[in-house]
Amino acid sequence: MRQLGLEIFQVKPGSIAGELGLEPGDRIVRINGKPVRDLIDFRFLEADESLDIVITKGNGACWDLDVEKDYDESLGIDFGPCNFGNTIRCANKCIFCFVDQMPPNMRETLYLKDDDYRLSFWNGNFITLTNLTDDQLRRIARQRLSPLYISVHTTNPALRERMLGNKKAGLILKQLKYLAGAGIEIHTQVVLCPGINDEKELERTLADLVSLWPAVSSMALVPVGLTRFRKGCHPLRVFHGDEAARLVQWVALKQDDFLDRLDTPFVFASDEFYLLSGEQIPPAERYAGFPQVENGVGLTRLFLDEWEEVTAVLPEEAPMRKVTLATGVLGEKVLKPVVARLNDVKGLDVSIKVIDNRFFGEQITVAGLITGQDLLAQLDPDKIGDLLVLPAVMLKKGDEVFLDGLTLPELARHLKKPIAVADGPRQLVEILIPSLLLNY
Ligand code: SF4
Repeated sequence: MRQLGLEIFQVKPGSIAGELGLEPGDRIVRINGKPVRDLIDFRFLEADESLDIVITKGNGACWDLDVEKDYDESLGIDFGPCNFGNTIRCANKCIFCFVDQMPPNMRETLYLKDDDYRLSFWNGNFITLTNLTDDQLRRIARQRLSPLYISVHTTNPALRERMLGNKKAGLILKQLKYLAGAGIEIHTQVVLCPGINDEKELERTLADLVSLWPAVSSMALVPVGLTRFRKGCHPLRVFHGDEAARLVQWVALKQDDFLDRLDTPFVFASDEFYLLSGEQIPPAERYAGFPQVENGVGLTRLFLDEWEEVTAVLPEEAPMRKVTLATGVLGEKVLKPVVARLNDVKGLDVSIKVIDNRFFGEQITVAGLITGQDLLAQLDPDKIGDLLVLPAVMLKKGDEVFLDGLTLPELARHLKKPIAVADGPRQLVEILIPSLLLNY
């Protein structure tokens, strides 16, 4: 049976919760008569100055506590990583779903089809709103769960129903209007599938979304990704370079217009479109504070700007080192000028090794989807030199594991080479020239 309330993971020493005698394992059941279903409820209810808190102690005893505190003062409770209970799953069958194109035997979490409004608010996960009940919509409004990140794909109701394989998908504009009216800030994305939701459909989607500005505050365009594991999936194709070029030119014109009228570029093409098209990455001002950098929109601009700063402190000479940087097909386009400049430093011998994505299929060209086994198969230890450097996006965040489960130490053991991981130009240069401390 599901226990009521939220289990305490840790109590901060010296906190209000500590003084009250709360301990790990106790459960917060109600605050001011309202049930505490998850972390969002807790944070929302905790903000009040007067709290009537019902607790179930680890030994089963029930405590009723009155607390007076400053508004917004924390009780000092940490609920650990599992504070939302069961993740809400998606109810869609999207024609472009990446999860459906996964090969078997990958990490379990890679098959999770979450579509949870709470994780959208808390972690910035994109959601479709197709599984939301009216109660949940009202909760978002009442508790001001803002900003939210919403996958729109198209505002054409019939097309959205088809693309998401869900009869409720056509309600998107009505839902967005409700959320906008409730003061929720919304970042949107469109996964673009050539011939399906681009061109005229995209014009319509953009017009609908920008009409809800400023509540809808950004719209990102991301190209569909297709792996070789598509048996039984809807027929789709990827964007060609010339189509990507037309798209980014169209985005630039739209941005000019919105900057004039609304003082925001509003619509953004993801980095993949620029790299595929060969067009220049826009300057930082065009990213308006980078609201969708986690979605691959503007990361390359941030990289290039950081590189610009780093080049100013590069020495003329460094200790001799032969180094290989491994990346994906698109990453090479960004790294080429970087490597050329690094090789101007006397003593450095840096080269790029482009890793084709044989695992997912060669239409997948981003570094973040390269697996350990592709690195293992395509890197020749005799050509790596003294050190192999990998971009941090190849590994699970905060971990040393590739998508296919191979670990960094395992790869190093197989290759018999030291491996370093860089999350940007600054770290890359610190790895290549350890004596150079980049303090700026
Ligand atoms: S919302 Fe669509 S793309 Fe996302 S997991 Fe569900 S089916 Fe896949």
